[in-house]
Amino acid sequence: MSTERRAAVLSVGDELILGQIADTNARWILGALAEVGFLGIEHRTLPDDRAAIATAILEFARRVDAIVVTGGLGPTADDLTREALGDAAAPQAALELDPVAIDHLESFFTRRGRTMSPSNRKQALRPPGTAMLPNPNGTAMGIAARIGACAIFCLPGPPREMQPMFRASVVPALPTGAGAIATAAVHQLGLGESVAAERLGAMMDRDRSPTVGTTASGGVVTARIRAEGDRASASALVEETARQVERAWHPYAYGRDERTLVGAVASLLVESQRTLAVAESCTGGMLGSTIVDFPGASDFFVGGWIVYSNALKERLLGVPTAMLEAHGAVSEPVARALAQGAVERSGSDYGLAITGIAGPGGGSEGKPVGTVYVGLAQRDGGKSAARRFVITGDRHDVRERSARLALQMLRLELLGMAEVPLLWEAPPAGEKASTPATGRRA
Ligand code: AMP
Ligand code: MG
Repeated sequence: MSTERRAAVLSVGDELILGQIADTNARWILGALAEVGFLGIEHRTLPDDRAAIATAILEFARRVDAIVVTGGLGPTADDLTREALGDAAAPQAALELDPVAIDHLESFFTRRGRTMSPSNRKQALRPPGTAMLPNPNGTAMGIAARIGACAIFCLPGPPREMQPMFRASVVPALPTGAGAIATAAVHQLGLGESVAAERLGAMMDRDRSPTVGTTASGGVVTARIRAEGDRASASALVEETARQVERAWHPYAYGRDERTLVGAVASLLVESQRTLAVAESCTGGMLGSTIVDFPGASDFFVGGWIVYSNALKERLLGVPTAMLEAHGAVSEPVARALAQGAVERSGSDYGLAITGIAGPGGGSEGKPVGTVYVGLAQRDGGKSAARRFVITGDRHDVRERSARLALQMLRLELLGMAEVPLLWEAPPAGEKASTPATGRRA
């Protein structure tokens, strides 16, 4: 069964082809199209090349119900989307000046106390038989066209202009009669991707509906669930599968869709009116930064320390010199002492500390690159613990994954499940390795 309409997305710009900027528009538009029942069948990135753009528009006009093009509507000579659209939709006809677009441009500049440069007049041109789409946030209006049964929408490249225009002008003008595509994403951290997939079992069969696929990034494994049909039944099916995934990944699943690990930790801390402080060595502030990315962090986060040298570990957080000498800075007792120091000196309820070897240098046999201890201390009862990880990846990966593991450790502690094993966990050096139930895949 396939009730959805088909769409294609064309991203235009030399800067995309040359790898100078990432194409974030395609991802956003394909997601937004899916929400309103359009299945993206292809996404193509093109240079600012008039013939290539016109050819792609004509090719897709035969294959899909809607084409969304972004980029190439600027005032300069290398912006060629409007000319290319003309070649495809109204060949041989000259572009026309749109009076509404002239007004838009003139008032855009007047309101800002600037005069319009002659090159901007080009942005009031459109092929005959097409219509301008308003742009409240910039000079480049969009253009809506039709070739046969296919609706074509050309939008400017800057995401802050393109996204509101897509919502206001494209969504209402899309060909109707489409069924819906419902989607959901469930995220977990702590199970390797292969183990996570095994736990989903038959849910991942290719011919099942809803479909479930997994992706992994920075230690987080995400199940992406998708169903087609009428809006109500597709949503219900996706909801049911999302719950099944959450059960299969319990207690590692921390949220859906836009939910982050910090967001999950934030809810638990705010609910119980607890606060958090951090002490960071190898992550150099990344944990604090990840926490502060969450709007509302001030409701629970009091702050922290970047204590890279042993001297600062001692001086600012009271880690005993003898402990540093006996065990080294990257060790279980030091991770605990750092977390305790953070709690004592900030007055917070919880302290998280990270000390490790991010590499590429500095590893040894007992402490290979990627060895990271995460300490967690509590003010109540003065409890503290540390876990040892050997994390795969380069310097950035090790730091990012450490910060995420620290947050997952705190989340599990707050749920009363501090004992469950986590990805990359390794027994302390010298102890016999047990087989972790979670697998070790990077
Ligand atoms: P344009 O409409 O071609 O003048 O694009 C202007 C600017 O929009 C570019 O310099 C980029 O910064 C941004 N932009 C264009 N295309 C994309 C895209 N596919 N994804 C993200 N940003 C884009
Ligand atoms: Mg451009």
